[in-house]
Order: sequence, then C-alpha cells, then structure tokens
Amino acid sequence: MLPILTALTALTVMWLPAADDPKAAGPFAQRGYYITFMRMPTYDLDAWETIIDGIQGDGGNTLLLWVAGAFRSEKYPITWRYNADHENVREDFVRDLIDHAHSKGIRVLLGFTPFGYDGVNQYPLEHPELRAIGQDGMPVEPFGIGCWGYNLCPSRPESQRFMLEYAREMLDAYPDADGLLIESSDYAICHCRDCGDRFFEEEFRFVRGISEEVWARKAEATVVVFPHYFSGADVPGFGVKAAKLPFDPRWSLVFTPHSARPEPDLIERARSSLWWDDSPARRGPQEIRAGARHAREIGATGYVPSLEAFTFVAAEAEEGQAWLKGKRQVPLGFGWLDPGEPPYDELPMRVQRIAYREFVRNPDLSFERYKEILGLDLFGAASTTQAVEDVLELQAAFNFQRTWCQPSPLTSLERVRAMEDRGELTAEKRAEYRAALDRLRAIEGRHREPRSEGERELHRVAEWVVGRWAGEERLLLERSP
Ligand SMILES: [Zn+2]
Repeated sequence: MLPILTALTALTVMWLPAADDPKAAGPFAQRGYYITFMRMPTYDLDAWETIIDGIQGDGGNTLLLWVAGAFRSEKYPITWRYNADHENVREDFVRDLIDHAHSKGIRVLLGFTPFGYDGVNQYPLEHPELRAIGQDGMPVEPFGIGCWGYNLCPSRPESQRFMLEYAREMLDAYPDADGLLIESSDYAICHCRDCGDRFFEEEFRFVRGISEEVWARKAEATVVVFPHYFSGADVPGFGVKAAKLPFDPRWSLVFTPHSARPEPDLIERARSSLWWDDSPARRGPQEIRAGARHAREIGATGYVPSLEAFTFVAAEAEEGQAWLKGKRQVPLGFGWLDPGEPPYDELPMRVQRIAYREFVRNPDLSFERYKEILGLDLFGAASTTQAVEDVLELQAAFNFQRTWCQPSPLTSLERVRAMEDRGELTAEKRAEYRAALDRLRAIEGRHREPRSEGERELHRVAEWVVGRWAGEERLLLERSP
C-alpha cells in the first residue's frame, strides 16, 4: 500500500499547474526512460532511489521498468534462478522503489516480453516441449541477452497458462505499479504449424487476457503494447504480417526504429503512444534531439528512450564474443565504477541526460543553445567553448562502436585484443583508434588544472581512458597487422 503521506506528495506533484512547473513544459505528456532492471543485478534500493531522483531531475514522469526475471516468483522459481544474485530477487524492494517513484511524480510500468526474453525464456528449460519452432521447422536454439533460454510457442495451452500466471504474479507482487509494458519480442516468433501466419493472434490471446485483468484491478492503469496485433502491417524481421484485430483505445502503444514502425491511424486512436530509441544509452546528444523531433513528428504523446546499462555476469558468449563469457558487464563502458554504483551520474552520461532534459522539453532547441546549457550545468561560470567541445568528444568516445554488451574499443583492451585474435584489427582501425586516443590525450592535458568540479571530472575520466593505453597496451595499436 502507498503510505498516505507519499500519496499526498505524489498528488501535489501531479496537480501542479504546468506553468508553475518548468519541467512539465514541452510537447510530451510521457517523459522518462526504459530501463532493463533485470539485467542490473548489482543495484540495491538506495541506488535505485538515486536513479529515480535523476529521472525526476531530467523532467521525467515515466519509468518503463523491465522486471520479469528479477522478482522472486513463487510459482515459477525457474524464472529467477539464473538471477539469484539480483538485489531484488534477494531483497524484494520494487514496492519501495515504486513508492519512491510516486513520491517524485514518476509512474512505473512493469515490463516483460510475452513468450520470450528474460525470466520467461527459462520455463522451457523445465518444459522443453513448449519451445518455439524456428523458420527451419526445428525447435529454436537458445538465445538471450544476459538471460539465455528459449522462446515459447504461444499456441500451446500450457504456454498461455504459464504467461498469464507469471504476469499475474508480477501484478500481485507490485500492486501499486501504474501498469504494464508488454514488449513483443524483437528477435523471434514461433513458426510451428499452429502459429504459422497467426503467431500474433496467438500472442494476442494472452495480451488481451492480461490487459483485461489489469483494467479490472485498476481502471486507469496504463497498458503499453506493440502495434503487431492491430496494424496488419509487415512486422520487421519476421516475414509475417501483424494481426488485424480490433483495437481497444484503452491501450497505449510503443513504436521503435527496429521492431515497430509508427502507425498514424493507431496513434490517433490510442490512449497514448510512445516513441522508443536507443539514443541516450548508445548514441549522442544529436541523436537524442533527432529522437525527440521524430517522436513529435509521428504524433507520439511520449518519448521514452532506452537508458539501459548492464551489470550482469555473462554466462554465455554474448553477441558471439567468447571474451565476455564469465565477466561482469561494464555499465555504459564506465570501467572505474564499483559494481553497486549506478552509472547515470557519471560525466559522459550527464551529457546525455542534459540533452534529454532539454530536447524533450523543446525539440526545436538549437544545438548551440544546448551546448551553452551543458557548459553552465557542468562547469558553471568557468565554462568555456573548449571545455564543452571536450566533454562532447569524451561522451562520443564512450559510445564509439559500443554495442549493447561490448564497451567501446577505445576503453576496452579486451575487445581490441579479441579483434586482433580474429584478424579484424586492420591498419585502418588501428589508425582510427590512435587518432581518437590522441584527441583524448589532448583533453587530458588541457584540464590538468580544473576550475570546476565538472572540469575535474572531465580530466579524471579522460585520464582513465588514456591510462588504459599507457604501457605496452599501446603497442597493440602501433603494431602493423
Ligand atoms: Zn507455435
């Protein structure tokens, strides 16, 4: 239950007229981030409260929190056994996390994927007969990010029963959550004879069932779904069409660049519609601005992009990279952090979060004006054009060729060594990396006598990167292939 005082605080925040709350300005009713909670096993409630406070600071009011695989299901312990070290599996603090979010005016939607991905994909380890069938007619191979398992065939009654009971248990565990994010899989469907062209109709049976249950519990709850049940359009990557079933305007929709193209007709009818992309997590401030503009262009009511950072220990060769196996993921490539320290207040991420805060409020803001604001935020009165250019360069270095599971080669000797072992470290790449590191060395040199806390951080982080290449490691980039 929400303590009364917390509830009152939440109401006060929500009832402030927009004019009195500069953070509420802008074209989007839903602002915030998508975070894969289940792949961040190392953060405790204190850390999450800090993360929530940061979202509020960025003008956010929405958190898409992917919880499946990271709560202690009593009916299906197989769903979290792989994640037994997750702080929430150990301490079950998501209720408190939600209370804290509400006290900051932030709504929390619980995320999961029907018949696939983390938690759910563990069930076929005990029930292999429920495995989905691949395009080749054979049961699917294991797949995952952090949590490896098998996606399920939704035509099997047992798969449907499991999904309903598991999602229901999540709702029971966190009754104060504001709704669900039902994220249709972006990597696999089932091609068995029963699913065939009707896969999304089969998936929808569950989606409609759990949505009705959510609304029966709480009429105003938000249920965000993919357009794959209503649009009839091609679903990117799968070679099948979306279903064309009746759309209930109580649903909210989410669209992404890689798995769900915007549908103007549905956007018009939906209760709300979110644009998602990976700009804050994986790209730079220019892309965040483009994301906010795109969200507005397609008529989305919200821009809720990814702020994913992973800290799981890889049990498999993620992305086919054997060198990652057995190692803890480095969140956003920030290798200086202790495992329990969240990465979002670190300097390169502050560049991104300030971009999100400013561009979501005003997608028309010029990039020059953003740079001025960034400088004032990070360096105060001591800001200079050079320091701003340097911090942008530093941010870009961390996301340079970074993938979901591999840090930038500029910050990861292991990755560069693996490239060399595979014969992929071409002379061109060596030259490119050397040039980038030379620019970071110059940044390190320029800020040795910092005049602000931000400049101190700029120096420290630049020094950390170039320090990784100080000794014989540098030879890795000098050597001719
Ligand atoms: Zn099937």
